[in-house]
Amino acid sequence: MANYSQSIPVSVLEKFRQYIEQAQNIILISHTNPDGDALGSSLGLWHYLMILGKNATVIVPNKFPSFLNWLPGLDQALIYEQDEKRGTQLFKEADLIICLDFNAFHRVERLEKHLISFKKPILLIDHHLEPDVTFDASISYVESSSTSELVFDLIDGLGDKEKINLDIAKCLYVGIMTDTGSFSYSCRHSRPFDITGFLVDKGLDVQSINVLVYSTQSEDRLRLLGHLLSKRMVVMQEYNTAYIWLSLSDQERFNYRPGDAEGFVNYALTIEGIKLAAFFTERKDVVRISLRSKGDFSVNDMARRHFEGGGHKNAAGGNSFLSLRGTILRFRKIVEVYEKFLHNSI
Ligand code: 5GP
Ligand code: MN
Repeated sequence: MANYSQSIPVSVLEKFRQYIEQAQNIILISHTNPDGDALGSSLGLWHYLMILGKNATVIVPNKFPSFLNWLPGLDQALIYEQDEKRGTQLFKEADLIICLDFNAFHRVERLEKHLISFKKPILLIDHHLEPDVTFDASISYVESSSTSELVFDLIDGLGDKEKINLDIAKCLYVGIMTDTGSFSYSCRHSRPFDITGFLVDKGLDVQSINVLVYSTQSEDRLRLLGHLLSKRMVVMQEYNTAYIWLSLSDQERFNYRPGDAEGFVNYALTIEGIKLAAFFTERKDVVRISLRSKGDFSVNDMARRHFEGGGHKNAAGGNSFLSLRGTILRFRKIVEVYEKFLHNSI
């Protein structure tokens, strides 16, 4: 994608400008189990809207991993599962909702009802495949590294690049770096690098952010990783597939907190020749599935078809309502069906 040049059409920028100008109370909302890009893009836009004098609030459905705790402005975000009453009130007062880093209402779980019943405009900023709702205006590009990249493009497109301060820079950089594995994938064009260069010129200290994001693990988390890699990883060599599972009892043993297993699926993908990696997390009522792939094999397709989920070509997620064991057996059967693709893709 050498010639890629991202630019949001002027007509879309003008719609965003008008909707934002006309609104005073704005809700920014992101997906369940928010990751670095969900929070980084929402908070980056939140800081910008505050500079514009808006009364904006970031709402996330549930708690985020602790390595993101330090993000500027996160202490003022509302975690819906902890304060449904205030959350519901905010939806009543809102003139505008902006959805970031997801494109299907069910991804916000218990917040979904507020989106469905909202009578005023809802806008989208996202980089996932196949939006399944029509929004009043959308910035939706799968070629973008991250939603944070698109928030930068929006602010830039509105002529406000110079309003980007250090807080916005930190938030957007975290979104870009976490969604690209520190610039190792989803970077097929120069935009995320250009944006990062601009943010560094604004005073962003890349090294200190990397320490905050990657070197603040708990001892429990690291020991859990060791345990899973040694005892819970299975390699299906004949299908170029590897998977790891995390049971409720292992979670108890290692004082598991939400987000502790973030990124673990990628270890399975680092084995030579492995093209498909899966990570199964047992929860009380569901098994969460994280899928990753190398090359042309689409885990978005697999997640959509078999696990009521979706995502990107090389990173997707979904759910299973079988037991952990039942889910893994089913996964193994599904992998057999994809055998040809697992052999053919690079
Ligand atoms: P993760 O494995 O990190 O939870 O998710 C990987 C990617 O897939 C993310 O971009 C995420 O937004 C997307 N994703 C995860 N779970 C789901 C899901 O249940 N439905 C859809 N549509 N996308 C998901
Ligand atoms: Mn993202």
